[in-house]
Amino acid sequence: MGSPVFHLKDAIPEPFWLTQAGAPAPADPLDGVTTADLAVVGAGYSGLWTALIAKERNPSLDVVIVEAGTAGWAASGRNGGFCAASITHGFDNGMSRFPDEMDTLLRLGQENLDEIGAAVDRYAIDCDFHRSGELHVATEEWQWRELQAGFAAEAAHGLDVELLDRDAVRAEVDSPTYRGAVLDRTGCALVDPARLAWGLRQACLSLGVRIYENSPVQRVAASSAALTLHTWRGSVRARQVVLATGAHGRLLKRLQQFIVPVYDYALMTEPLSEAQLAAIGWRNRQGIGDSGNQFHYYRLTADNRILWGGYDAVYFNGGRIEPSHDQRESTFKVLADHFATTFPQLEGLRFTNKWGGVIDCCSRFSAFFGTAHGGRLAYAAGYTGLGVGATRFGAKVMLDLLAGAPTELTRLKMVRSKPVPFPPEPVRSGVIQLTRWSIARADANQGRRNLWLRTLDAMGLGFDS
Ligand SMILES: Cc1cc2nc3c(=O)[nH]c(=O)nc-3n(C[C@H](O)[C@H](O)[C@H](O)COP(=O)(O)OP(=O)(O)OC[C@H]3O[C@@H](n4cnc5c(N)ncnc54)[C@H](O)[C@@H]3O)c2cc1C
Repeated sequence: MGSPVFHLKDAIPEPFWLTQAGAPAPADPLDGVTTADLAVVGAGYSGLWTALIAKERNPSLDVVIVEAGTAGWAASGRNGGFCAASITHGFDNGMSRFPDEMDTLLRLGQENLDEIGAAVDRYAIDCDFHRSGELHVATEEWQWRELQAGFAAEAAHGLDVELLDRDAVRAEVDSPTYRGAVLDRTGCALVDPARLAWGLRQACLSLGVRIYENSPVQRVAASSAALTLHTWRGSVRARQVVLATGAHGRLLKRLQQFIVPVYDYALMTEPLSEAQLAAIGWRNRQGIGDSGNQFHYYRLTADNRILWGGYDAVYFNGGRIEPSHDQRESTFKVLADHFATTFPQLEGLRFTNKWGGVIDCCSRFSAFFGTAHGGRLAYAAGYTGLGVGATRFGAKVMLDLLAGAPTELTRLKMVRSKPVPFPPEPVRSGVIQLTRWSIARADANQGRRNLWLRTLDAMGLGFDS
């Protein structure tokens, strides 16, 4: 029997979410000279949450956002829409790096997810926000062993998790590849990512934030009185600045040692019929992630399509960010093949969209924070593929850092410490490609990590999406 056939040929090369109806008309570019109390660079989730929370804390603050493209065009509008409570890129990663403050980080993450849900309600953001939970599935014995060990630790730290054996997980979602799963009942919401970005943009406008789009900031100039953002046609003179530029950050040189741009890719299917959906179950509509080092993430949309992404995390040598990298046919083919293996019942289903986007990977996989220009500029970056929820936490950290007085957030080791820097190019490319090769070998070899990966583990270093 050949493998099932799935159709990629008609897939359009655009992020499904961003092609939906309802995109706001772009705001005018920055033209001329203006001033602000707080100027935010970037209108992804990070910048939008920062501006919104700044206005909620102090409605009289004059806040401006300056965005190179349009709000949400980048990672924030094209992601999988898994809005996780975890602010540490998962429990295991958090435990390995911040064991002493993990209980605090878990609490802060849960509060953050609750507050995102409350903000979605408060501003009536139409973004299909549902706390559907997440299934972490094992498709190999070694993954199942690791999941069971992880489950025990998560349960001991009070996470709302349940262990599902093969029959139990297949009763939830029926894939012949499943060996077992951990169901995280409350630690993840699913969201329509572009509509969340567009809704946050509208919420900002409703509170009086001024937004300039299609206005790349070329440089930040500092004087004793103010910081000034310069674009081609204008400038903003501000008392304080937030850099919320994700993987695109080039404005602050010191950030470049900590983040590398990593491309992640996704496919979207056409809507499933009732019969197709019945063939795979999935009544509870959880988000799903599998448990290899190279992992897939997948979920249903409101109209019962399946978003299927992940696995290949690609670093282009030299670290260039280019629109042409958003399409990668070899990765789309691999993803389609893996989809066929996971859901053979859906043979013949078509993919309607294929796209990629860039994430800001740092060596500890979870965000880092800091200030520059005498505490007048704050930044957060390094969310590494789990920033949909965590960027809101990062926004609060940046505002606390700018306010100056120590808070619970700014006292955290996670906030005070930095990831290990990546080496400069061309060594950086060599190191990352060796790591990617080793990760693929480990997945093919019962999870066994070679000497290189074990060395990186011992140093607390890594590469992920
Ligand atoms: C394919 C894909 C799938 C993903 N899936 C998930 C998921 O399911 N769950 C999850 O938690 N995370 C996921 N992520 C990661 C998540 O999308 C990001 O962590 C998050 O969106 C980061 O938000 P951000 O605001 O920091 O960055 P971005 O959304 O990248 O926004 C940064 C903004 O800054 C602007 N900017 C940069 N430089 C300048 C400048 N000089 N002047 C003006 N503006 C500038 C950019 O134009 C951009 O709009 C995924 C990412 C990708 C690419």
